[in-house]
Amino acid sequence: ESTINKIAAGEVIERPASVVKELIENSIDAHATDVRVEIGGYGTKSMLVIDNGIGMSHTDASMAFKKHATSKINRIEDLDSILTMGFRGEALASIASVARVELVTRQEVDIEGTKVVVDTSGIKNITSTGAPVGTSILVNDLFYSTPARRKYLKSARTELAHIIDVVSRNALSHPDVSFTLVIDGKVNLRSPSSVKMLDSIVHLYGADVARSLVPLEYESDLLTISGYVSKPEFTRSGKDFQVFFINGRPIYSNQLSNAVRLGYYTLLPKGRYPAAFLNFIINPVNVDVNVHPAKREVRLSHEKEIGVMIIAAVEEALAKESLVPEV
Ligand code: ADP
Ligand code: MG
Repeated sequence: ESTINKIAAGEVIERPASVVKELIENSIDAHATDVRVEIGGYGTKSMLVIDNGIGMSHTDASMAFKKHATSKINRIEDLDSILTMGFRGEALASIASVARVELVTRQEVDIEGTKVVVDTSGIKNITSTGAPVGTSILVNDLFYSTPARRKYLKSARTELAHIIDVVSRNALSHPDVSFTLVIDGKVNLRSPSSVKMLDSIVHLYGADVARSLVPLEYESDLLTISGYVSKPEFTRSGKDFQVFFINGRPIYSNQLSNAVRLGYYTLLPKGRYPAAFLNFIINPVNVDVNVHPAKREVRLSHEKEIGVMIIAAVEEALAKESLVPEV
C-alpha cells in the first residue's frame, strides 16, 4: 500500500477556522517565531497568515499546492513517529480547491522570493518577487465556487470564535512563538513570546482563570504531563477552559477530559468542569494522530493506564496545595 493511500484523505476545510489552523500549523512546522493572522470579514472575505519561518524554494513553492505534496514524510514508517504538526500534504491543496490563494515565500539562501497565485481552477501564475524571509499566504473568497457550503457556515460571531479559539490554542501550545491576531484591522489578541504557559493563560484567558490554577507535573515511563488544573471551587458549565496538547499539538479528547474530572473525586458539583491546561508528552508510537482528517482527535494506546495516571496526577496536584482532605 502506498504512503498516499495510507494517509486517509478527507475533508480538511469545513470553515474559515480550518484554514487558519492549517496555515498556522505550517508556520510552526517551518520554525516561525512570529506568526501574524489577519482576518477580513469573518474569514470568508480574506485570511492572511504571515510567518518568519524558513520559507520555500522556488521549486517547493510551485509544488506546494499539489495534493500530497509534503516535505514532511518520505516513508510509511515515518507515520509512526510524526512530530511535525502537518504531514498529509493536503492542506494547501484543499484550501486552493475552495478559495483564491496567493503565496509569497522566500528562503534565506535565495535572493528572490516566489509568488504563486492559485484558484479553484488551478495555478494562475508563478513569478519571482522581492520578499522577506518566511511565508505569507493570503486566502480570499473562501467557498466562492461552492455557495452551498458558504451558506452552511454559522454566524460571523461563531466563525470568529472558532478562529480565536484556534489561534489561542496554538499560542498556548507554542509559548516560544509570538502570535498576533488582527480582525478587521483591530488587534484581537497578541501572545507574548515568553516561555511560560501561565503568562499565555493570563493573556489569553484572563487573570481570574490564571489565579484559580495549581501546577501539575507528572512523570512516568509512559508519559509526562505538565501544566495547570483549577482549584475545585473554580468550575465551568462546559469544557471551554480545557486545553490539551499531545506532543505540542492541540487536540480534543473526551478521554483525557473525563480522566481529569475523575481526579477531583467528588469535589466537583454535577455538570461542572474544571479548567485544565495540560501538555502531554507521549512517545509518538503510542499516539495515532491520523484519526480525524483535521487531526483534532487522536487515538491513544494504553488508554486505561494513561487514564489512571491522569487521575493520580490531578489528585497529587490538588493534594500538594492541601485542596483535598487527607485520606
Ligand atoms: P503538510 O503540512 O501536510 O506537509 P501542506 O499542504 O500543509 O502539507 O503543505 C505542503 C508543503 O508546503 C509543506 O510540506 C511545506 O513543505 C510547504 N509549506 C506550507 N506552508 C509553509 C510555510 N508556512 N513555510 C514553509 N513551508 C511551507
Ligand atoms: Mg500542513
